[in-house]
Amino acid sequence: MKIGFSTLALFMKSFEDFLDKATADGFDLMEILCEGPYWPRNIQSPEDGLEIFASYDVDVFLHAPTIDLNPASMNPGIRDETLRQITETVDLASKIGAEAITTHPGMIHRLEDRIRDMGKYFAIETLKEANEYAEDSGVILSVENMPHRYAYFCNTAQEHSYFIDQCGCHATVDLGHANTTNDPASFLELEKTYYYHLSDNNGKKDQHLALGDGTLDLNLINGIDRGIIELDNYDNVIKSRNVLLNLSK
Ligand SMILES: [Zn+2]
Repeated sequence: MKIGFSTLALFMKSFEDFLDKATADGFDLMEILCEGPYWPRNIQSPEDGLEIFASYDVDVFLHAPTIDLNPASMNPGIRDETLRQITETVDLASKIGAEAITTHPGMIHRLEDRIRDMGKYFAIETLKEANEYAEDSGVILSVENMPHRYAYFCNTAQEHSYFIDQCGCHATVDLGHANTTNDPASFLELEKTYYYHLSDNNGKKDQHLALGDGTLDLNLINGIDRGIIELDNYDNVIKSRNVLLNLSK
């Protein structure tokens, strides 16, 4: 298994710091969370030092900005801006040689079936267009499953699979999110999974605990090929990495 971490754990450090840390600690992968200082629109120019990525042997993925964005929004302006920011993340991925980007499928703010159906239609329309742009750029667009709440799309393996099929994109399976459903194992059967997000929880809330500190069945992780540990604390990243290394022994 190739193991990496989300830069959420090292927020505010430089790209060089991320890459140095990944290399020093023996990680193969890294996912850059493109929020705040790493917002793609602000890091497109040559003076941002993007050539540094070429000198490291770490496979990089990007997590597109999702805060306040929503491909399923009832508001066309928000959908347009969401699409725009996904395409900007694809452009950044092309510049730094990142293979894949992950984004979210969106959510609704009025908990009614009628609204959910409409939101699902909008989300698929937005993400399909984003996927066409990504394909033309040679970047993989991967849509992530969400925690098990009615407001969120891709909250079951079945709906996740439907989105992947309709949008033509790949899947990022978040096993912490999957653990909030009553059937986390079903997410392992998805066909176009590009990589996994790994964190633990109590099976109810998306707590982002270190692996082994919650109820996630670690046997599910054994056998996956690419895993990004997604925690906000680097000590817990290392702790989880050690759990993974013991699993594969
Ligand atoms: Zn995510």
